[in-house]
Amino acid sequence: DPQLNQNYTFENFVEGECNRLARSAGFAVANKPGGTSFNPLMLYGDVGLGKTHLAQAIGNEIKKNLPDKLVIYVSCEKFCQQFVDSLKNNTINDFVNFYQAMDVIIMDDVHNFAGKEKTQDIFFHIFNHLHQSSKQIILTSDKAPKDLSGLEERLLSRFKWGLSADIQAPDLETRMAILKKKMYSDGIELPEAVVEYVATQIDNSVRELEGAMVSLLAQSTLNKKEIDLNLAKSMLKNFVKNTHKEISMEYIQKLVCEYFEVPVEMVKSKVRKREIVQARQISMYLAKNHTKSSLKTIGNFFGGRDHSTVIYACQTVEDLIETDKKFKTYVQDIQKKLKTS
Ligand code: ADP
Ligand code: MG
Repeated sequence: DPQLNQNYTFENFVEGECNRLARSAGFAVANKPGGTSFNPLMLYGDVGLGKTHLAQAIGNEIKKNLPDKLVIYVSCEKFCQQFVDSLKNNTINDFVNFYQAMDVIIMDDVHNFAGKEKTQDIFFHIFNHLHQSSKQIILTSDKAPKDLSGLEERLLSRFKWGLSADIQAPDLETRMAILKKKMYSDGIELPEAVVEYVATQIDNSVRELEGAMVSLLAQSTLNKKEIDLNLAKSMLKNFVKNTHKEISMEYIQKLVCEYFEVPVEMVKSKVRKREIVQARQISMYLAKNHTKSSLKTIGNFFGGRDHSTVIYACQTVEDLIETDKKFKTYVQDIQKKLKTS
């Protein structure tokens, strides 16, 4: 299965208080897919804490024990894209049949369904089909089902059927164990004091923890310096701060259009359809708040409109954020994507 990444296994997933329930539920599911009450199994937690790793580990474990099972791993984003493509190519039946033929479906980051009503409808049917035939469904999300917004109620209610298990930020001991495991598998040795220092400084994301170690190694190679506590200290200073990046209007437009499933050309056009206007106004609002572009430049970019149109768009979005909870979630979701990419 090309979609499964062999590097993500249970063996190299460090267990801690932060992930104990999720890990053991995942292990149970891996050994009896579709045969436990954990269906769906929903793993949720903040970014970089191991959801994808664990979800993939379940898939790999199933393939190891039961090689004949059809296991598919797909990110929600890719699923949405495939759906749009199948609509365009008139292959919607193939698309649905493909997923309904699986024994196990692992769908990553289902919060990305927000705002995509058509794709949610299709997934709702696939979900029901698989669940009725006792096929295993594994989902990941950045929030608990009860806190997910922008998703249809009937889909959310199904997400709550099985077990939702959260993954939290690891404690210091677990962070050190994760670093050591990674060092061991990469054949690296670092002084204990350095491991402890790095693990103390970075406490919110395992991905950043690993990233810090990688750049520490790179710096030591580059400067031909031993990794000691001093190098670790000076390096981490830059590492923690160096996350600022310029955001372009193209990128904002791309994110917004993907989010609302509208073609990019429409946003720049004169079309007055509600969903297009909404995407256009949110794009302008985000461009004003996240780029240094002037109102004139923004108006120009989004279809040659003048600066008063941009002001009106921003005002409208601000009003809607105040009065419409669902709308507010949309904007926040997109903003989060802007910042994490
Ligand atoms: P998420 O999907 O929640 O954003 P990932 O699964 O991509 O997070 O994890 C980010 C990185 O941290 C990956 O390289 C993963 O292997 C690693 N990681 C996370 N949790 C653990 C853990 N408990 N043990 C070992 N590695 C972990
Ligand atoms: Mg992930």
